[in-house]
Amino acid sequence: MSKIALMTWFQYHNYGTALQVTALSRVLSSLGNEVDVIDYRAHGRVVAASEESSLVRLAGKARNKAAYHLLRRPCVVPAREELFEAYLDDRLSFTSPCPTLADLEALNDVYDTFVCGSDQIWAPSVFDPHYFLNFAAESRLKVAYAPSVGLPEVRDGDVARRMGELASRIDRLSTREESGSGIISELTGRKVATVLDPTFLLRPDEWAGIAGCEADGGGCGYLLAYMLGSNELQWRRVYEIAERKGLDVRVIPVFQRDLKRKGCLTRPVGPREFVALVAGASYVCTDSFHGVAFSINFKREFCAFERFREGDPVNQNSRVHNILARTGLEGRLAARGKGMDDLVKPIDWTPPCDRLDQEREASLSWLKDALASAAPPESHKNNVLRNRSLCCGCSACEVVCPVGAVGVSLDAEGFWRAEVDEAVCISCGKCRATCPFIERSTSLPIGAGSLYSFKSSDAARLLSSSSGGAAAAIAERASAEGAATLGCAFDLEGGGAAHRLVLPGDAEGLASLAGSKYMQSRMSPALAEAAVRKEEVVVFGTPCQVAGARNLLARCEGVTYVDLICHGVPSRHLYERYREWLHGTYGLNPSIVRTEFRYKPRGWRERYVYSTDGEREACLHQRKDPYFLLFEAGQCYAGCCYECPWRSASAADVRLGDYWGPRFEGDETGVSMVLAMTDRGREVTGALSTAGALKEQPLEDYISWQQTRNEPEPVFRERLLSLLSDPSISIEDVAGEFAEPIARERDLRRSIAPLARIAKRVLGKSHR
Ligand SMILES: Cc1cc2nc3c(=O)[nH]c(=O)nc-3n(C[C@H](O)[C@H](O)[C@H](O)COP(=O)(O)OP(=O)(O)OC[C@H]3O[C@@H](n4cnc5c(N)ncnc54)[C@H](O)[C@@H]3O)c2cc1C
Ligand code: SF4
Ligand code: SF4
Ligand code: SF4
Repeated sequence: MSKIALMTWFQYHNYGTALQVTALSRVLSSLGNEVDVIDYRAHGRVVAASEESSLVRLAGKARNKAAYHLLRRPCVVPAREELFEAYLDDRLSFTSPCPTLADLEALNDVYDTFVCGSDQIWAPSVFDPHYFLNFAAESRLKVAYAPSVGLPEVRDGDVARRMGELASRIDRLSTREESGSGIISELTGRKVATVLDPTFLLRPDEWAGIAGCEADGGGCGYLLAYMLGSNELQWRRVYEIAERKGLDVRVIPVFQRDLKRKGCLTRPVGPREFVALVAGASYVCTDSFHGVAFSINFKREFCAFERFREGDPVNQNSRVHNILARTGLEGRLAARGKGMDDLVKPIDWTPPCDRLDQEREASLSWLKDALASAAPPESHKNNVLRNRSLCCGCSACEVVCPVGAVGVSLDAEGFWRAEVDEAVCISCGKCRATCPFIERSTSLPIGAGSLYSFKSSDAARLLSSSSGGAAAAIAERASAEGAATLGCAFDLEGGGAAHRLVLPGDAEGLASLAGSKYMQSRMSPALAEAAVRKEEVVVFGTPCQVAGARNLLARCEGVTYVDLICHGVPSRHLYERYREWLHGTYGLNPSIVRTEFRYKPRGWRERYVYSTDGEREACLHQRKDPYFLLFEAGQCYAGCCYECPWRSASAADVRLGDYWGPRFEGDETGVSMVLAMTDRGREVTGALSTAGALKEQPLEDYISWQQTRNEPEPVFRERLLSLLSDPSISIEDVAGEFAEPIARERDLRRSIAPLARIAKRVLGKSHR
């Protein structure tokens, strides 16, 4: 028996999604396995580079929104949602919630087999690497059963490349449609089977048992209409067919406007009710893949409409064409111009059923065979690399390792990363217990915190700090009381930022920590120095660094942890290219240049970046500075920043950030957002009142103005990073191609925000 974790959609309350996940879970269980569905709710969107202008893109989004509000407003009935929840709860067993890759990778410690599929989890338009089992370790068996690509081709080259790379890691590959198998086969160079949607693996009597209805209702005298599109010509045909057949119409409403159609059902329809309605229908009209699938499975007369227009870039009609062709029922396609006679004539079910039986046997046998395959052997000892890929370079594992088996160095993409010498490792597991992505029990949700604003009363401190000078005030007070400070300074020799341990009373050392360095800081060897100190220490860093330090120093008393609200750290290559550009453009000596990313003498809200080599200088507005543009666009961060578990949690005593939002709108010198997370944090925060203006504020300010969820990793990130690692490519060109469209879109969004608010109010009223 295997312990299987099943990765598929379940969260969207549509019938096909709910029925496919329950079918596959049931089939896998019936083969003697223990099955849990992975509780992961998709990002559901791709971040692709677009050649469209910001205006065209925004106009497209506005058009879709308007269509959604005016024409295709979904019909959401609470009682229907409850039926879905009850059905899923009743039929499925779930893992614990897995919002990030760290949670998904933890499943490797529990499950030996991972299955992905079915539904359109591989549709390029909603590309999400987790549905390609990117979290499943090398040593776990990975099987793709019937995921659907949905489209006949993958147009975006970055998406295609990523799909190919990820699918290649899967041990046994199948998809639901021939076209999908062709695409994946081409991308991986491997053989890809085409198998049936899992709903077909259950026979009509099994579905009838689930739905509590008759498997062959014999036709209860109604035509069932289930249409996911909103094509009025097709709706006219639905009623014509009903008239020809002498049937009443029963409509399952999808959009608000369906509620006005003749025969619309008023009682809520959940997954069970959907199955029973198809089973009892005398005729089914549908443009849904699963509407067609259940009509065929229950041998109900039907006709299939095409939901998408020819030429639509997300045309998914091929799914319906495919299942009709496989069962020899192409004649039931209600294509434009097709005569009514063909659609109303009875179906001879013997040939389609024979084909379906054969395909069912073949699909089941493929699945059994795939599950019996052997997984590759485990190649790691019990260290941080076993079953895990996330690393923020915090160095906690390097410091804790008793035999020096771990080294943290810059990887090819320009990020600090731990490597383990397996030959030296004694498998003690200590590094796993300190890794912040594995051991996260010290993190608290930000809801547990109390929020404050702070502005230093020391003008010099305020000027050199990024926001209100809270970090410097905390460090100076602690230093005066005899504590050392572990913080981040510019490291000229290292070519970037590095942590250093500043001993009590070293004012110059403390001054070197002021200001945010918007890059990844090297933590070792300063972290190792802090770990052996007997006296008090204040640790400053990004949330991941602080979480690692807290795990490492868990047994040390007198440590205070302060983390920074952090939207991500860019590749070291970005700063390398920037220094070269400063040299070429302004003559700055790249080996001794240092940069202030928030140069307050020129402004706070409008940001300026200032660099100097001691003699020459350059100062650029954020919209003209290629480093800041690329940093702010968020496309070249470390991989872990798109899977950050600390967006709405913290392992620190105090969290610091910029006080954005309207509360301090007129302020031009900077205000800190201070979130006291623990009793120690409340004490440290309270003491800030002697150093400036401290005021308690509503926690909603944090939720409203800080990023509390991860942005998905752009599909072109790898390409962007490789451009940044190439010294022959100008950073200006890279910023122009990747970051400027984002900045333009933000500017545009800001300028049309008042208009959008009015439109929202008007549209909102029109639906009341
Ligand atoms: C990479 C990064 C991303 C950030 N993103 C956001 C954001 O999205 N929203 C927001 O409100 N605030 C963000 N901040 C925090 C913000 O820039 C300020 O640091 C914060 O408002 C505190 O300001 P301050 O005036 O109190 O102290 P600062 O003068 O900013 O003092 C900074 C403290 O942070 C430490 N530090 C500086 N650079 C780094 C680094 N690279 N890595 C680790 N520690 C460092 C120093 O040791 C110092 O103690 C980010 C900071 C960083 C480093
Ligand atoms: S398991 Fe122990 S010996 Fe091996 S790398 Fe981790 S800490 Fe070092
Ligand atoms: S402890 Fe830190 S450096 Fe080590 S693997 Fe984990 S995140 Fe990477
Ligand atoms: S976004 Fe998260 S993972 Fe990335 S540096 Fe910041 S805290 Fe670390």
